[in-house]
This record gives sequence, C-alpha cells and structure tokens, in this order.
Amino acid sequence: MRHHLQAWARLLLAAGALPLHLAAQSPGPPPDPRYKVDILLIVAHPDDESVVSGYLARAILDQHKRVGVIYGTRGDGGGNEAGPEQAAALGAVREIEARKANAALGIDLVWFLDGKDTPSQDVLQSLETWHHGASLEQTVRLVRLTRPAIIMTWLPQFVIGENHGDHQAAGVLATEAFDLAANPTAYPSQVTPARNRTSIANLTEGLTVWQPQKLYFFSDRDDWTPFRTAGPRYSVTDVSPATGAPYYRTQAASLANHLTQGEGGRLAAQAIKTGDYTAYLKAQEAFAGTADVQLILGKALSDGPETGDVFQGVTERPAAWRPLAAGGEGPAPTLSLGGPWGFYRAFARAHGIERAGGLIPEELGVNPAVTVRLPLVVRNAGGEATFRLSVALPAGWTEQSGSGSYVVAAQGSIDLQLRLTAPASAGPAADLVVSLADRSRTIGTVRLKVRALGTMPL
Ligand SMILES: [Zn+2]
Repeated sequence: MRHHLQAWARLLLAAGALPLHLAAQSPGPPPDPRYKVDILLIVAHPDDESVVSGYLARAILDQHKRVGVIYGTRGDGGGNEAGPEQAAALGAVREIEARKANAALGIDLVWFLDGKDTPSQDVLQSLETWHHGASLEQTVRLVRLTRPAIIMTWLPQFVIGENHGDHQAAGVLATEAFDLAANPTAYPSQVTPARNRTSIANLTEGLTVWQPQKLYFFSDRDDWTPFRTAGPRYSVTDVSPATGAPYYRTQAASLANHLTQGEGGRLAAQAIKTGDYTAYLKAQEAFAGTADVQLILGKALSDGPETGDVFQGVTERPAAWRPLAAGGEGPAPTLSLGGPWGFYRAFARAHGIERAGGLIPEELGVNPAVTVRLPLVVRNAGGEATFRLSVALPAGWTEQSGSGSYVVAAQGSIDLQLRLTAPASAGPAADLVVSLADRSRTIGTVRLKVRALGTMPL
C-alpha cells in the first residue's frame, strides 16, 4: 500500500503538480530563537561572571555573540557591605545585582538554580546542599533551551587559593551537562514533543537535544602559571572598536552593580565616578596575578591549538552527539586520596578532561592553625592483610591521629582519615607524603602539596 502511494506521488511530482493535501507540512515551530546563545556561562554566585566579563565584553560588543548565564546560587551566604539584609533577603538583593551586572554587559538571559550558597572548600558538600540531581536536570534543560556552542565555567579541581566548593560544583554541573544534553536518554521528558503544543496540560517539554562544541574553564587558584599554555588569554586593556574604550571599563561598569560584595564593586563604582581605574585594576590583578582573562580548554569537538581563540573551529551547524568513550577505571591504587581529590580523579577520567584536570598537582590550602581531616582510601587486592600507615609532614604541621596499623579484608577497601593541624602562621607550599607499608616494604605513597594561607574552611 505504502509502495503504491509513493509511486503515485512520484508520478504527480514528475508532472510538476502536487495536490494540496500532500504538500510538506511543518511539524511545529523551530526552537525559540530568542533563547539561542553562543556562550553559556555556568557559575556559582552573583559576581562570579566578573572573572570572565573582560572577555565577554569583547565577544558581545565586537563579535556580536549572544551570552546566557546560569548561577548555581543567589549568593545568600556571606556578609553584606551595602545594607542590613542577610541570608534569603541577601539572595533576593544579589539576584537583582546580578541581573543589573549582566544587563551592563548586554546579557538578559539569566537563570538561577536553587543551590544554597555554601562557604566550604569541599565540592561534595556544595553538590549536596545544591541538590545535585535537581540542579543537573535544570542545567541540562537550560543547555537544551539555549543551545550554546561554548560553555564556560569554573575549573572542577581542588586548588590552593579561594578554592570555593560552590565554584567547583558549577564546574561539575557544567561538565556533566556538556556530556548529557545531546543524550536523548538523559531526562527524556525534556526532549519529547508535547502532544498538543498550544493546549494545556502538556507534560513533556518539547526541547531538542544539543551538543555544545567547546568547554572552557577558569579558576580561583592563586597561581595561574600552570594554566598559561592551556587556553587562550584575553587582555582587558585592549580597546573595543565598538565603544572606543578598553574592555576593563565595560567589566567595571558591570561589576559596579555588586555593591553588597565589597571591594570589587566598590572600587569599580569609584573608578567610574573619578575616571581613575588604577586601584580597580590593581585589585583585579590581586586575584590571580593578572587582570586579564585566562581560559583553560576543557573539551573541544574540533582540533586546534589549546590557546586558539574561543570560536576557532566552532561551526554554525549543530554538532552531533559525542557519546563518551567508555573509559576503564584502570588498576586501583593501593593507597589514594579520597574526598574531593578522589572524586576529581575519577571525574576527569569519566568526562575526558584529564588534561585540564591534570595541570596542577593534588594540593590543599587551609587556614593557619586549623585541624583538617585528610581522607584516604586503602585497597587490598590480595588476601586479608595488616598495613601500616605513616605520614611525613612538612615543618610546622602536626598529626593528631590517623597513623598506625589497619587490617583490610581480602579484596576489600577501607576509608581512613588523617587529622592534621596546620602551622600557626601562613607560609609557602611544601609536600606532605603519606605511605602505606606491609610487613616488608612500602606498597603505596600519596603526595599532597599543602600550604597554610588565609582561605575558606575545609
Ligand atoms: Zn563566587
């Protein structure tokens, strides 16, 4: 029957005529073009956008790119330098500050997840308070809605520096969404067309799957030296042909809206008022040794130098789904760091970002004089055995507990903690070495770069 109809249609086509009821019908409107962006920025807090706004100004003003932003939280933690509002009230204030800051950059597509501002260095705590699953579902939804070529986000890595767990949680969600948004089996109700689009009670979302083409990171690490060759760097002192002013002026005009957040916003507002940007630029430099924007290439569907321009190799047409290669676990080490370090090692492998994830050593920065718990995992590939754990500490560090003998079942693993107290005052980084031995020899070693400095609690 079908065969017969096709033959009939071919005959009509050959005659140059097509009856009205066989004319091509539109299955529905295309995705709403008002929400299509070139770059989707996924960050944690209002004002995080300022780390890359010196680049976004260039992309928006002079390359006519469209940008959307997702914030994981409303910034409801922390102090308020502009008024008495705190907690949820502060979140309401900061949402508006963020919307104004983005409007100053020409960005009006701004969404907030419902994550709680969580002041800690541990990404796993932030993922918990952000309700990881719900936040990821919404992030994937927004990637499918905005269909970005580029996703930019915080580096999912434990670093010496501010090392905000919320920043890293944004990086984790963004990386996961990059790999999931084109997968039709991930949140399938999002990509199922509605039964009757213009009527009510449609329970599927009518979005389309989408594969972004490049994933870029930036970091809150103190020292950006290892990142210099891992991605493009954009000068904020370059002059925008569109405005005739350096990009840092647009950046400052945006940052000046974040008055609850202290120095950055205050200095930006002052610079705009006086026309003297010296103090503003100096404060920007203090963050990472430069006011410029340093990006780190996380993933790219196209080939090209890591330091090439963000849009190098990016095509206009939608990219095909790039399913992740099934990466094996490899032989498990006998002794390894657990907690966020262990998570990131597995995460980098699972998402194919080993290069970006391996730019820096495993490291830890803590406040002077605090006691921290260092999570360790011991795996035993043989029969039941007794192992001895010991630690060689840099000067000034002391051990409270953790060293000693442990019995591990055959083919089993145990989680241990070393409780360590940091030196009383800030100092340079040094290596801490944890060793595991059986009766006759050392069978596992973990090296961690540690440093006492002023940062957030772990
Ligand atoms: Zn932040």
